[in-house]
Amino acid sequence: MNTKIVKAYGTEAADAAIEPIQINRREVTPKDVEIEILYCGVCHSDLHFARNDWGFSVYPVVPGHEIVGKVIKVGEGVINFKAGDVVAVGCLVDSCRTCGNCKKDLEQYCPEWVGTYGGHDKHLDLPTFGGYSESIVVDEHFVLNIPENLDLAGIAPILCAGITTWSPLRKWNVGKDSKVAVVGLGGLGHMAIKQADALGAHVTLFSRSPNKIQDALDLGADQVVISTDEDQMAGVQNNFDVIIDTVPYAHDINPYIGTLTTDGTLVLVGYLGPLDPMLNSVPMIMGRKTVAGSLIGGIAETQELLDFCGKHNITSEIEIIKIQDINQAYDRMLKSDVHYRFVIDMASLKT
Ligand code: NAP
Ligand code: ZN
Ligand code: ZN
Repeated sequence: MNTKIVKAYGTEAADAAIEPIQINRREVTPKDVEIEILYCGVCHSDLHFARNDWGFSVYPVVPGHEIVGKVIKVGEGVINFKAGDVVAVGCLVDSCRTCGNCKKDLEQYCPEWVGTYGGHDKHLDLPTFGGYSESIVVDEHFVLNIPENLDLAGIAPILCAGITTWSPLRKWNVGKDSKVAVVGLGGLGHMAIKQADALGAHVTLFSRSPNKIQDALDLGADQVVISTDEDQMAGVQNNFDVIIDTVPYAHDINPYIGTLTTDGTLVLVGYLGPLDPMLNSVPMIMGRKTVAGSLIGGIAETQELLDFCGKHNITSEIEIIKIQDINQAYDRMLKSDVHYRFVIDMASLKT
């Protein structure tokens, strides 16, 4: 198959910086859409994957799965998009389309799902490369329409941070009578607050950072609980129907279990790995409480979220950066100093 060389930023090793590299993109197949990338959000998963925190990275890594761009070419079998359309691509670029999960629009749980980066491009027999690049070629099933009324750069983080919190809010039926708590105010956390607030829920933020209290209230939280303050934690026992935990590293989730109401659920979306310290089953059994996990969201659900964001005027709070500043952005992310998502202006790749 013919390929095209495009400019990108990526890394060759876990301990190397993100630097300019060149990658191959496939020529469009009949169902493909070629997209010039305008903006790409910076997710904490990009950092985990670049640094092989999860142990399954394939190098070179070109991160980026919060993509907004302009269609520049379509294959002859593409029906939903044409050159000039402004579209989005999230964390998924392929799946088997035939398994039970694919048939239920849960492509993210397909055994053969292909991530936007670090997956396997079956056309090229190469790893997939993400959005820190000039352009990307994606099957039209995985390309999304974006609402016309929203800022393009502010839409990008909806494609991962947004859908990752939306999917559990919907799965656990959050609505007007729900009490929702969010752990950690970063990219995912701030989207969760905005979404739960727009769904009509009472929203609480658990944070370690007192300097983020006012921001959380401005984003739509009804209250903030400083998670390191035992008195504040004691004040919210047996309270929440759903907790969305976005913390990226191993942390003690036991204190949060006590704040769930009977039948309440804590959904882990941030940390991937064994819990440390271990989970104490006593409060779970005594209160019929659940600990669950959730991975991004399917394509139909992502489109549902984009439409919801258009209707409720929801975008991400962003700081626009140049691609050349990506390593400093990662350093700031490690210090929880993101307000509340970096988005790369990909025009900077041309300079
Ligand atoms: P982020 O912007 O860096 O935000 C994470 C927030 O968690 C921080 O702002 C901080 O909030 C809190 N935090 C950070 N380190 C902590 C620690 N050691 N202990 C307690 N709290 C801590 O990250 P993000 O982009 O939102 O991503 C969050 C996690 O979700 C990452 O691990 C990412 O890989 C994962 N993720 C999962 C999925 C999925 O499908 N499940 C999808 C996307 C991302 P405070 O200052 O308020 O405490
Ligand atoms: Zn992500
Ligand atoms: Zn499948």
